[in-house]
Amino acid sequence: MRSPSTDTRKTVIASSSAVLLAMITGCADDATPDASSPDATAQTAPGEVPAQWSYEGATGPQHWGELEDEFTTCSTGAAQSPIDVPSDPVLSSAPIELDYTNSDFQARDTGHTVELEATSPQNITVDGTEYTFQQMHYHAPSEHTLDGADYAAEFHFVHRSNDGDLAVIGVLAAEGENNPAWSPVIEAVPAAQDEDSAEVTGLTLSSLLPESLDHYEYDGSLTTPPCSESVRWLLLQSPIELGATQISELRSAHSDNNRPTQPLNDREVAQIDQ
Ligand SMILES: [Zn+2]
Repeated sequence: MRSPSTDTRKTVIASSSAVLLAMITGCADDATPDASSPDATAQTAPGEVPAQWSYEGATGPQHWGELEDEFTTCSTGAAQSPIDVPSDPVLSSAPIELDYTNSDFQARDTGHTVELEATSPQNITVDGTEYTFQQMHYHAPSEHTLDGADYAAEFHFVHRSNDGDLAVIGVLAAEGENNPAWSPVIEAVPAAQDEDSAEVTGLTLSSLLPESLDHYEYDGSLTTPPCSESVRWLLLQSPIELGATQISELRSAHSDNNRPTQPLNDREVAQIDQ
């Protein structure tokens, strides 16, 4: 997932996005990203070195921690995401309460995924803490795995509390029946890529979730640089289904944008049946 949780991180993300936008533009003519292009330098603050990261090669996940001082946690963090959810999580009880309402959304291409932002506040409450929806985006294939098994895609619904703490609902997607509830979102993906942004009107986020909100909870991190920790992960246990065509639509915009699973170390994963 990608989301700022502090102003500093916001700056890092913003400068990355600026470069990535330049990279996308550059990709039309040349497959090699060029950070020194006028577009990139024009959108980067003076003296700031633009951060570039990717999912392969010298700027891939194994090297994120070396690319920028701010990315060090990617290699030194002991509570990183995603993880492989073990087959024997501990039982706990902290239900997710949804307060999602009908809203319009703006879809935009970040260079690594397409994300949707709501035009009106959408909230969830977990353990008495209220979090406001920031954005939803996808990875294909999934980042989290369940006892070693991955899925065709994974959606991250990123929320933030007034104190700046992040809570992310992860939704795994398996290939199966066409899923009409997701059609407006899937249709916005190529439009966002072609035209930078696209609108999705009259959508309620809960219509995108599986019937059951039973989930795994653990303390993890952003799965993209700067890999900041203290992210409350709420990974829904039931995958949704998407049709093969819907999955190819997602993959044709962005694919293999999944960070490998990270060591669990001494963390526990709680299983919450609600
Ligand atoms: Zn994500």
